[in-house]
Amino acid sequence: YVSRPEDVEKQRMGLPIVMMEQEIMEAINENISVIICGETGCGKTTQVPQFLYEAGFGAKNLTTRGGIIGVTQPRRVAVLATAKRVAYELGYQLGKEVGFQVRHDRRVGENCSIKFMTDGILLREVQSDFLLKRYSVIILDEAHERSLNTDILIGMLSRVIQERQREYEEQQKRILAGETIEKDNRIFPLKLVLMSATLRVEDFVWWKNFSYSSAWQREVEYLCQRFRRASREIVAKVAKGNNEASPVCKGIPPEENDIKEISEAFDFQGNSGHEITERFSSNMEEDHGDLSEDESDVSYDSSEDSDLEFYSDEENQSKPVDSDEKFSDILGAEGSLASLKTAFEALAGKNASNPPAEVQDAGQTLGGLKQSSSTVEENVEKNKGSSAGPMRVLPLYAMLSASSQLRVFEEVTEGERLVVVATNVAETSLTIPGIKYVVDTGREKVKNYNSSNGMETYEIQWISKASASQRAGRAGRTGPGHCYRLYSSAVFNNLFPDFSSAEISKVPVDGVVANFPFPTPPETDALIEAERCLKVLEALDGNGRLTPLGKAMARYPMSPRHSRMLLTAIQIMQQVKEYARANLVLAYAVAAAAALSLANPFLVNFEGSHNDANDLHHDEKAGSEESKKVTDTEEKSRKKKLKQAAKASREKFSNPTSDALTIAFALQCFELSGSRTEFCSENALHYKTMEEMSKLRKQLLQLVLGSIFTDVQQEFSWIHGNFEDVECAWRVSSEKHPLLLNEEEILGQAICAGWADRVARRVKGASVLSEGDRKVNSARYQACMVKETVFLHRWSSLAKSPPEYLVYSELLHTKRPYIHGATIVKSN
Ligand code: ADP
Ligand code: MG
Repeated sequence: YVSRPEDVEKQRMGLPIVMMEQEIMEAINENISVIICGETGCGKTTQVPQFLYEAGFGAKNLTTRGGIIGVTQPRRVAVLATAKRVAYELGYQLGKEVGFQVRHDRRVGENCSIKFMTDGILLREVQSDFLLKRYSVIILDEAHERSLNTDILIGMLSRVIQERQREYEEQQKRILAGETIEKDNRIFPLKLVLMSATLRVEDFVWWKNFSYSSAWQREVEYLCQRFRRASREIVAKVAKGNNEASPVCKGIPPEENDIKEISEAFDFQGNSGHEITERFSSNMEEDHGDLSEDESDVSYDSSEDSDLEFYSDEENQSKPVDSDEKFSDILGAEGSLASLKTAFEALAGKNASNPPAEVQDAGQTLGGLKQSSSTVEENVEKNKGSSAGPMRVLPLYAMLSASSQLRVFEEVTEGERLVVVATNVAETSLTIPGIKYVVDTGREKVKNYNSSNGMETYEIQWISKASASQRAGRAGRTGPGHCYRLYSSAVFNNLFPDFSSAEISKVPVDGVVANFPFPTPPETDALIEAERCLKVLEALDGNGRLTPLGKAMARYPMSPRHSRMLLTAIQIMQQVKEYARANLVLAYAVAAAAALSLANPFLVNFEGSHNDANDLHHDEKAGSEESKKVTDTEEKSRKKKLKQAAKASREKFSNPTSDALTIAFALQCFELSGSRTEFCSENALHYKTMEEMSKLRKQLLQLVLGSIFTDVQQEFSWIHGNFEDVECAWRVSSEKHPLLLNEEEILGQAICAGWADRVARRVKGASVLSEGDRKVNSARYQACMVKETVFLHRWSSLAKSPPEYLVYSELLHTKRPYIHGATIVKSN
């Protein structure tokens, strides 16, 4: 009863997984949980939900299979893209039978049968409905990624399926005994399907195992040192050819090797968010003469302004990780071989038919290289005489707005070449139609947490073999493909770990329970640290038991710190009589919590890249030589202006007691402004972050005042009004800070309660700075868990008069260990 479009029917015939439909469905029918392993591109993501759907899952009327088919993806872009594709394949309109939900965006029809969502969304649903009664099957896709959310979900779901089974069996007994149970109250078993291309199956031993493998033919080619330089040349050309100013290297230590530079250079493109359609200069070939030295084409700006890194993760509000990963793919679209000709020649030797001797001497060549030399040859042959078409370069990264992200799925016009420059968001799940080539730098940027000192650092490291295969998998999805690896096979074999480590071993695990069935248990240190934290927050008593406060905290689906902060504000405000002021304080507390959940929205990089609104003006720029020069100077003065704007903006909103309150004030003005995009470009704020924060603020407020909270202890309920009252107080227009002094103090107290263990004390006499220390204004602090001295960045709103004590939301070691999200501790 499914009628698929003709092209889909045809394409499905070629998918290996379609031949396995019966086997897969048998496995699912006979087991409660199943793991499906199949190489990337074999059809797991798009087909398995359809198999289930055709077998009757997701249908409302069929008893045991009624209930939605839920599919999680670790990333938001993947959710949107796969939902769209599956709806299309089934011949449906997106948002009805096939729907999706991501944070702040939901399109799920009344009779939804298949729902795609991020793992974060499902995690939240488990919290409000532990048995997930609306679902008949849950598919966790890309389980190998081992994101914290996926791991927690796997642990939780292992209990949910047992519990559902138990309740189901009990109900069956009651029915056998003659009891009638209303349709709405019937319980059915829940199936769990884990899907992955490369799963470390030992971690999931208790699951019924099922394995499957097949894929499109895909060539993988390793490139040695010389080629890496060559490809950097290409990057430089691309950067120049695209009429952009010099790539900016942000916060990456200068000693990092050239692969990182390539990534950086690409990432400049990525961050810039510009769409560039431009002629790829055909005389590039001539310039390739010397591949060995010249690094000057790409210049790096490592000025001190780049200290404060911009980071965020869309899906994981309490833990910003990895959105700025520096890995890049150049992906060329089908029918655009000519365009990549020059790239090939640089990558596989200047003259394709004549690979340079050095390559063979390097001892790193594989059969694959030779083979591919001939491929290149063929390609060059095929495209002789055809001139390079226009190139469309599209960035793809987490901080980009959803609509910009989805541009990579748009059709390219005839002869046009699509180049997608992407971070890890494109590593898995995505099929961008027509992508033929992948260039993999083999690197990723990860944020590592050191649980012994509470300090986080960004590190650039080799990816795992599993990740490399995922990246390679982005090519050749809709036909044979080719992957260039900017590293040697020796590096791949000897230095790459087999699998990425589970995120849980890399992040702080505040609030995680010790005997929880994680596939990989968090480190004992991290658990001890989590318990210590919950004790400091008074969620656990001395015996490790949950306190009444802890119980109240647990009801908020947010980190214990944020819950503690909001509950403290609520508790204090109960004594206040004046309800309008009280509502304003709550509004601010919630806004501050939202601010502390996301990245700092004040623009810190001056390529202007973070501002989607700014970007709009850039698409129109022409590509002629003259205008290039104009643009360079324009670019410089634009940067300068932006820098000034950023400074003025920080001063304008500055609340000298707290960075979080500073941002909260900016958020208030943002929401009141006539044009939000204009407001952001005027005040040098990151538009997407501000929008996100605004939505998050509303959501948090709804949670605080919503039904979740009505049945909790009196002492934590809000007595001054409802949602609209608080919103009303929030909409007070104000040129200056609308907070009174004592209100500011109450908010500060609340923040301190949530971050009570992250205290730092100013180091006395530190004003005498060492010779050559440029950051004269960075005050030094001693944080309680870290031996090292940490710094208060001069951009913090506390920097003008650094207090003796402060609490911080995180320590991040970029150029130096910096304090982020500081709030004054008032001693009285
Ligand atoms: P897997 O999850 O096993 O990696 P997918 O189900 O994502 O595989 O993709 C299977 C195949 O479906 C791809 O190789 C590709 O041919 C096709 N496909 C997926 N998404 C799209 C799309 N948006 N447009 C065209 N073809 C697609
Ligand atoms: Mg997939």
